[in-house]
Amino acid sequence: MAAIAAGEKGAHVLLVDKGEKLGRKLAISGGGRCNVTNRLSIDEIIQHIPGNGRFLYSAFSEFNNEDIIQFFEKLGVALKEEDHGRMFPVNDKAQSVVDALLTRLSNLKVTIYKNSPVAEVLYEHGKTSGVRLKDGQVIDTDAVVIAVGGKSVPHTGSTGDGYAWAKKAGHTITELFPTEVPVLSHEAFIKNRSLQGLALRDVSLSVLNPKGKALITHRMDMLFTHFGVSGPAVLRCSQFVVKAMKNGACRK
Ligand SMILES: Cc1cc2nc3c(=O)[nH]c(=O)nc-3n(C[C@H](O)[C@H](O)[C@H](O)COP(=O)(O)OP(=O)(O)OC[C@H]3O[C@@H](n4cnc5c(N)ncnc54)[C@H](O)[C@@H]3O)c2cc1C
Repeated sequence: MAAIAAGEKGAHVLLVDKGEKLGRKLAISGGGRCNVTNRLSIDEIIQHIPGNGRFLYSAFSEFNNEDIIQFFEKLGVALKEEDHGRMFPVNDKAQSVVDALLTRLSNLKVTIYKNSPVAEVLYEHGKTSGVRLKDGQVIDTDAVVIAVGGKSVPHTGSTGDGYAWAKKAGHTITELFPTEVPVLSHEAFIKNRSLQGLALRDVSLSVLNPKGKALITHRMDMLFTHFGVSGPAVLRCSQFVVKAMKNGACRK
């Protein structure tokens, strides 16, 4: 999207990726259907951000959920709204979202280097001066957009390389923790797989502190698996489980 945005503004763009295939994480997102965005109001979306989500107002004033919908529909990806404002491609295929982006990159004649891991972003006199690839090649440029993803599912290519580069540029990196993830459990009923495959529709799932007070409640679907619990309600609650465990306010 960054390469497309720059290309649409007439910039001469080079997209450098370490993998053989672009958009691998996008292709597995939303259970392979890609939950492209959400159609709830900005206020409601921000309300659901754990912690203080108000910092997002300024970003949303530049580019928000409705802009994302327009962006993808303009690229030919028809979208549909499901429960809780969740937006998916009509054909339920995340790959069609990836393909639409690749087609737009190609139409904009963005140059793409694949299999070209970046080792380092170079800065000189307080400004970006280029990037150095792992094979030693240096590419000079005065503008770099770092979009190398986070640390989740590293086999898709994103291994968290960008944090060090952003730090070197003077940004502060906050503590990293998983979010929107399934939750592992060692409970006997998980280990003996007695509930594996049980799906619950439209249930209220809460994360409780040791005193039994609900830290968060989400009413959505959930699923028992061979390793723990999963499904939309669990993914939404997961960040609260991680944070509560870090604070010692939740049992493993
Ligand atoms: C299982 C799963 C399901 C998800 N479902 C949804 C969903 O339904 N809806 C939603 O909005 N979000 C979802 N997400 C989150 C979403 O996929 C990510 O937020 C999104 O992919 C981030 O995009 P990105 O371009 O920043 O990074 P990525 O998609 O991770 O892409 C980073 C790219 O950078 C490349 N790269 C990494 N390091 C280097 C390097 N050193 N040199 C060169 N290239 C490098 C990688 O090869 C990769 O191609 C999901 C994530 C996961 C893991």
